[in-house]
Amino acid sequence: MANVAIVTGGSRGIGFAIVQKLLEDGYTVVATYVHSLGKLEGTNAHAIKADVRHLSDVDATVKTARELGTIKALVNNAGVVADDLLLRMKDDEWSRVIDVNLTGTFQMTRAVIHDMLKNKGAIVNIASIVGLVGSVGQSNYAASKGGIIAFTKSVAKEYAKKKVRINAVAPGFIETDMTSGLDEVHKSQYLQMIPLGRYGKPEEVAKVVSFLISDAASYVTGQVINVDGGMVM
Ligand code: NAP
Repeated sequence: MANVAIVTGGSRGIGFAIVQKLLEDGYTVVATYVHSLGKLEGTNAHAIKADVRHLSDVDATVKTARELGTIKALVNNAGVVADDLLLRMKDDEWSRVIDVNLTGTFQMTRAVIHDMLKNKGAIVNIASIVGLVGSVGQSNYAASKGGIIAFTKSVAKEYAKKKVRINAVAPGFIETDMTSGLDEVHKSQYLQMIPLGRYGKPEEVAKVVSFLISDAASYVTGQVINVDGGMVM
């Protein structure tokens, strides 16, 4: 039976780099998207249009993965931003970010946990350093990512005895569509805060995710690994 990995939000950016790396690692990859196939088109990944906010989509994703083999890994990567200062933050901006980033992670994790128990699998949640240190204009996003970190540690404690590992990766500034909209002034301010002196690449996050779900990380659970060029240390 093939070893299957599910990657949410695999159509571009960090998610797509994770899909590529896990394909290289020999996994059969089920990758989700909501708007368009994006970079998944023409790859060996099994692309599914599935919104992590909708339980029926979550269940359909897991069902497809089960049909393809043994689910060994889940990467909760799907994420959105809707930045605004607190007083301008609309209810919709708050709930959209919490629903996709945090509730989506919860729903996907709950849906695969039986498979993880049976198959001794591993889960990686993509958080953000913003979830550790906060960020002006991103209270919704920071709350969702801080929530993911607390969720990761709680589920890691719940399932450690059953040999299911769950860790979080906290990227810093990675060059993707999510960060491409930032103006040059803000970008250069970020750059000054990065000890390694450059932005990160999606592949650099993917390599850490690959490590965390592999047996090389067999004694690692409940951790948050920053991939941020040293921004938070
Ligand atoms: P991105 O380029 O904007 O890609 C986001 C991905 O999430 C896309 O594949 C998108 O699908 C998918 N997605 C959005 N809403 C979804 C939903 N409701 N259900 C399922 N999939 C959904 O973002 P990125 O920069 O690669 O970020 C990936 C993850 O890393 C996110 O969790 C983000 O918060 C985190 N992160 C990024 C950075 C950074 O600097 N880039 C830093 C820290 C953390 P469509 O293509 O169909 O829209």
